[in-house]
Amino acid sequence: MTIASVDRTIALISTASAEGRPTAGSTCSPDLARNPWEFDAEAPGYGPGSSMGDVIPTGSPRQGELPARYRTASADELAERIRSAKAVLGERVVILGHFYQREEVLRHADFIGDSFQLAQATTSRPDAEAIVFCGVHFMAETADLLSGADQVVILPNLAAGCSMADMADLDSVTECWEQLEDLYGTEPDASGRVPVIPVTYMNSSAALKGFCGEHGGIVCTSSNAQTVLEWAFERGQRVLFFPDQHLGRNTAKAMGVPLAQMPMWNPRRPLGGNSDEQLTDARVILWHGFCSVHRRFTVDQITAARAEHPGVRVIVHPECPMEVVDAADENGSTDYIGKAISAAPAGSTFAIGTEINLVQRLAAAHPEHTIFCLDPVVCPCSTMYRIHAGYLAWVLDGLVGDDENPPEALNRIVVAADVADHARVALERMLAARPPVPA
Ligand code: SF4
Repeated sequence: MTIASVDRTIALISTASAEGRPTAGSTCSPDLARNPWEFDAEAPGYGPGSSMGDVIPTGSPRQGELPARYRTASADELAERIRSAKAVLGERVVILGHFYQREEVLRHADFIGDSFQLAQATTSRPDAEAIVFCGVHFMAETADLLSGADQVVILPNLAAGCSMADMADLDSVTECWEQLEDLYGTEPDASGRVPVIPVTYMNSSAALKGFCGEHGGIVCTSSNAQTVLEWAFERGQRVLFFPDQHLGRNTAKAMGVPLAQMPMWNPRRPLGGNSDEQLTDARVILWHGFCSVHRRFTVDQITAARAEHPGVRVIVHPECPMEVVDAADENGSTDYIGKAISAAPAGSTFAIGTEINLVQRLAAAHPEHTIFCLDPVVCPCSTMYRIHAGYLAWVLDGLVGDDENPPEALNRIVVAADVADHARVALERMLAARPPVPA
């Protein structure tokens, strides 16, 4: 399978642009052509890509300087270093790679998937001493929650956070919760349903998963959001959904919840910017968060795709804004998108609204179809982009050690025990939640 590397596409566009030659599409930032380690020493930020305009919280993990031998190595040299470290480590290490990672990293992964599939993969190799997670910070935390006590989880670049996950932090969610308790009280209604159930998207910190576990709540993914909301409505009169407003809105709307009963909570304003009446009438309170990758998709792009490719099937991720989801033919998780493409008759044409690396991988895996990204501009997820083969080679070499350096787990991600216990409760509720049996 030949994959059009996003790295190579970006390099070609940048070179052509610098030479004044016409470019078929432009990157979202000329900085994309720089190497990720050039940003490690700069002021904290998500780096180039879709999240570069988002505000990074103070105290976000910073990546230290990558040793020079990894910064100056060629792509082939890094690939060889990774292969030889993997050969030495054998079954002692497992490498997990998210769909949105660059191809130069994913070719070394033992498992490739979305955040839920990778969480499951974490438990499939209990004998591995180290799990190297080529994804973002919250995913590595989830891997630490689900892995064995003796296993270590490593994130090759600590700056690989997630701007959406960072839009909800424990302090502001706790403050929101206290205001809602003041308004609703804590007593269940006559049918035993409590006033509000907290639901966090998988794309959130372990601290927020712990908050949900401690307060009768649950975690959801983009694959099971409706099942989880049904679980929550059985137990609560309403839901506080964070951090992604779009997944919450799109899912609840599909379940028949009116938009008027989905107020948005802006953590910078009293009562989130709502009146008592709006919150009392609410069924789903949506946190003011979003994914900058999926927010780039627009209805105009769908209109243009249909004009250029009559009969095109438009599938978008439910993290896209509601009007984009409404205008698309279908919406679903990355797993859903992959299965829909696999099941289609040869010769189908798809316009996909999700991260560019995944779309290019799907296009390479399905030459029998025409598959393209709805957004013509090459703009990957900034934080996934921070994981480069250089960092992967560095952490694997660290596990191997050498004559001067004993083996060590660099960039280890550890969730504190008190948080972990509650977070596991919320994850276990999600794994146990089942769609209601049709009457
Ligand atoms: S694609 Fe969006 S939600 Fe996923 S890691 Fe990137 S910023 Fe976060």
